Amino acid sequence: MTVTRKVLNWYARLSPSRGRVTPPYSHVVQIGDPRLRKVSEPVPPESIKTEQIQTIIKKLEVVVNRYGSLGMSAPQIGVNMRIFAMQLTALEIKTTSPVIVKSHGMTVVPYTVFINPSLKIVDYRKVSHAEGCESVRGFSAEVPRYKEVEISGLGPEGEPKSEKFKDWAARIAQHELDHLDGKLYTDIMDRKTLCCNCWEEVNLSQGKLAIPFTPE
Ligand SMILES: [Zn+2]
Repeated sequence: MTVTRKVLNWYARLSPSRGRVTPPYSHVVQIGDPRLRKVSEPVPPESIKTEQIQTIIKKLEVVVNRYGSLGMSAPQIGVNMRIFAMQLTALEIKTTSPVIVKSHGMTVVPYTVFINPSLKIVDYRKVSHAEGCESVRGFSAEVPRYKEVEISGLGPEGEPKSEKFKDWAARIAQHELDHLDGKLYTDIMDRKTLCCNCWEEVNLSQGKLAIPFTPE
């Protein structure tokens, strides 16, 4: 108990803006934040063009690019609304090992936003690969996902859209959609494969290493 209080006090000193930050955040909330466990609310279509919703959509893009992540959902920036974004750039593919690109079926996904998305499974076969999440920063685990899915919903201007995603892109879409239902990959991962991504560096630095919760 004492140890917990000590740790909490230590964290409090690190966050002078405590209590004064309002979502949508420029950072990503972490596992334990109750908003990651809520079923998010649908966005009323007539409100999509309002400043409030457009601000959330723009902030999502800022955070995706700040973290260089493959996807991001509104709950991860503190907003329980059914909005997510996904992106896989040509540069990311170029800087990933060709063996991984091939085995994981990675293809370019231009920046895409879905509002009130629904999922239809196109190919029921499941594929397991290591997957991470900006809300479980520093860790990864093997997670089974459907091979191909179709996502239908509205775009950032409220336009209806529907798109099929295969392999790695299908994984991103399923991961982000799960966030809108309060689910995390840790719920469905192969538990024995959960891995701290920097476990070797922990040894090399004799434990003097911290997981950064921002990319900078
Ligand atoms: Zn995630």
